[in-house]
Amino acid sequence: MHSPLSIDVAILGGGPAGCSAASWLGQLGLSTLLVEREPQLCAALAGLHFPQDWVLGAPTTPLSALGERYAAQAAATPQLTLRLGTQAESARHAADGWTLQLSSGEHVQARALLVATGLRLLRPARYFAVPHARVMDAAALTARREALPPGRVLVLGAGDNAAENALFLADRGHAVTVWARGGWRAQSHLVRRIEAHPGIVLRLSTPLPDGLMPDADAVSVGAERFDHVAALLGFEPEPSAFAVMDEASRQRAFVAGDASGRWHPCVQTALADGVQAAKQIEQALRPEIHSAPQRYNNRQVIHLQGLRFRANLGVLDFERTGPQPIQVDAQVNLGAMPVVARDADIGHVLDYRRVRAAILDECTAEHTDLVEALLGKLSNRLMSLPGVVGVRLKLTKLEIFPDCEVSISTELGAW
Ligand SMILES: Cc1cc2nc3c(=O)[nH]c(=O)nc-3n(C[C@H](O)[C@H](O)[C@H](O)COP(=O)(O)OP(=O)(O)OC[C@H]3O[C@@H](n4cnc5c(N)ncnc54)[C@H](O)[C@@H]3O)c2cc1C
Repeated sequence: MHSPLSIDVAILGGGPAGCSAASWLGQLGLSTLLVEREPQLCAALAGLHFPQDWVLGAPTTPLSALGERYAAQAAATPQLTLRLGTQAESARHAADGWTLQLSSGEHVQARALLVATGLRLLRPARYFAVPHARVMDAAALTARREALPPGRVLVLGAGDNAAENALFLADRGHAVTVWARGGWRAQSHLVRRIEAHPGIVLRLSTPLPDGLMPDADAVSVGAERFDHVAALLGFEPEPSAFAVMDEASRQRAFVAGDASGRWHPCVQTALADGVQAAKQIEQALRPEIHSAPQRYNNRQVIHLQGLRFRANLGVLDFERTGPQPIQVDAQVNLGAMPVVARDADIGHVLDYRRVRAAILDECTAEHTDLVEALLGKLSNRLMSLPGVVGVRLKLTKLEIFPDCEVSISTELGAW
């Protein structure tokens, strides 16, 4: 057997977040292995040829072109080992670091692991069990929407993706119906445009169809017929990298980009996350740099106690009918910080209003069945705030029983 590849940092996922982290880790002088499942870096951007205005400074550059640039620069990083068309079969953390086995058979020893594997579109089985060209997810719709012949299109969902695509299609002469289980989750400027658009019919707060019946000519939805259906029902962090770890190892992995459960996943947040992760990893691997006496021995923790509000949470029937009061107690570990002995700009510290806003936003954005799942989403969200190295959370259902409250707590990252 060959001796294992020994490396400072292994990155799983070579999208914008993984490429950005790899590039920064190289500049910080850390040896890095970048493992990408597809045969090329930034594969998710390769098909996105349309100009888009999300990336500041490059409003007319297609993401496909940006992806090529990210990939080229990352691949040229000093001390980078690149493995394309490969993924981890197992990843285990122990006291001496990470042991990985790749699908190529290669063994890797790494001091830190970064998961940057992006997200996975939600494709409910009741709509996608049998693949059909007339029933599309977000990726298929984006690839085909320019060329769809005008017709009746049903858009399922009410998030940004659904709203943007509804407008795109209606502006091109399609008769669009937007159908969603709840209300709008899209940006308000998109909602205003949709509500004023004569080509879009809204069917919000309506249970979604049980199934779709596509045939050669159309898709039957109950008694209605549509030419195409786009089910744009959200996304979740891609689970494949976490699936090859045990629970203890999962807690030790750094996470960046869409994989960290971003509220608004996009190229800019992914790039920024990669930088942030690289700096956090450097701090973890070289504590001596960051723990010079006086300057950096000042651990700071933001505490938010007794934050009470109503959230849509739970699997019981009465919990599904409306929000219930909950309480969140949070501790956010900012790690070793320089001692601030004089007033400085609020921009130099993590503003605790951002912590509060992130908690409220994450807990009220949508219905979540399990407290554990909400804690997971919330932990990821808070860990992705700048400078955060650890999170402790306690979530309490205040009125679930007449005679007691129920809480679950969690601890993540460095403490
Ligand atoms: C249809 C569509 C349109 C979009 N339009 C825009 C837009 O206009 N503007 C914008 O800013 N953003 C847009 N986005 C979002 C943008 O593509 C993502 O937010 C961005 O790519 C996230 O970067 P990332 O590195 O976190 O994840 P990704 O780009 O998804 O990269 C993750 C990488 O990890 C790899 N991977 C997954 N699992 C494994 C594994 N187990 N082992 C190894 N590798 C693995 C994947 O192959 C992938 O290459 C769009 C997304 C979609 C789907």
